Amino acid sequence: MSLLSRVFERINAEEAVELTRALVRIPSVYRSGEPGANEAQVAAFVESWFRREGLPVEIQEVAPGRPNVLAWVGDKGPGRRCLLLEGHTDVVTEGDPKDWTRPPFAAEMSGGRIYGRGAADMKSGLAAAMVALAAFKRAGVTPKGKLVVGALVDEEDGMMGVRHLVKTAAGRELDAAIVCEPEENELCLEQRGVVWARIRARGKMAHGAMPEAGINPLTALGAILAQVPALEKRLRKQCQKSRYLKPPTVTPTIVQGPPRGVGAPQSNVIPAVAEMTLDVRLTSGISSEGVEDEIEALCRQAEAAVPGVRIEWEALNAFRLATKVEKSEAVVQAMIYGVRKATGSAPRYGGVPGSTDGTILRMELGIPIVTCGPGSRLIPHQVDEYVEAKEIGDAARIYTAAALKYLEA
Ligand SMILES: [Zn+2]
Repeated sequence: MSLLSRVFERINAEEAVELTRALVRIPSVYRSGEPGANEAQVAAFVESWFRREGLPVEIQEVAPGRPNVLAWVGDKGPGRRCLLLEGHTDVVTEGDPKDWTRPPFAAEMSGGRIYGRGAADMKSGLAAAMVALAAFKRAGVTPKGKLVVGALVDEEDGMMGVRHLVKTAAGRELDAAIVCEPEENELCLEQRGVVWARIRARGKMAHGAMPEAGINPLTALGAILAQVPALEKRLRKQCQKSRYLKPPTVTPTIVQGPPRGVGAPQSNVIPAVAEMTLDVRLTSGISSEGVEDEIEALCRQAEAAVPGVRIEWEALNAFRLATKVEKSEAVVQAMIYGVRKATGSAPRYGGVPGSTDGTILRMELGIPIVTCGPGSRLIPHQVDEYVEAKEIGDAARIYTAAALKYLEA
């Protein structure tokens, strides 16, 4: 029997489904200042699951109650490769549970789907990766290189988990990564980048009845808002067109005057300070400097439009540019092989609309990444989030076949 058949034999699709449900039942929404509202409990579950399988485990304490959990088979050794199956343990807020038709953390099964917050994004992807790794151990198949599963924290916010990982020995030895985010098991070689530009305008506080006595920072933000469509157009010209990704967009998401912590808003007061955030999404082809120049020009234009206003801005969570890998990359070839072996058909291709931990792996380590995992890419962060149960076992099989191909080469 081939090595791959031996590993495939040890993947139980039903088990992958039940593991997903167990992970969904552990809420892991991070709520700052609320004890226990973090990834600690689900990370502990993942850790003990790996330990029960007899796998070596590394815990990286990223922040109090927020550990990365890593487990692996094989070792890197000279001339050998190290592949990461990447998942995150945090989920976004469930919002108002009354808006859900099913309880958000009960992992109810219906019509072949598992419902719950994180079902798609991405406890099913994590479960598939865990089952894939364990299958090697259970089959007694040690790959030539090293296969690592990383269950990281804080993907949905500042991506502290992956930022921590890339600075450790475990991160530095990686040669490629499969990001197990919900992409309907399509192979995604491209993902959009994101820059959150927080723009702060400073004017002069005054009575609303005597605006001539003040300098209104909100008027300056208005001038920026008016220029957003033009900025979007310019960015679309500078970025490459992609078959799989929507073109660049510039979306205002926050406008506040005064911002939180700088006095209270009052109907008859011109605030001294106003703040806005632009959510800028990009395809590849533009550099950090290119984006910087555009936003800088926007701010200077608004300053000129409202004399006396001073505007500064910063990129929250740094620049996360779009990523793209070539089909000829070994990890992509391994994934194409993996999909064929696991499902019997040729891969479907897609693109990642948002930004994932993969962006940081690509930017900081320079390694190729492929994004592929169970769950519809449109369902994350919505109420009644679900995953098609069948896709989870398929994903586990894809990961093992791809890993074996990539590491044996
Ligand atoms: Zn995710």
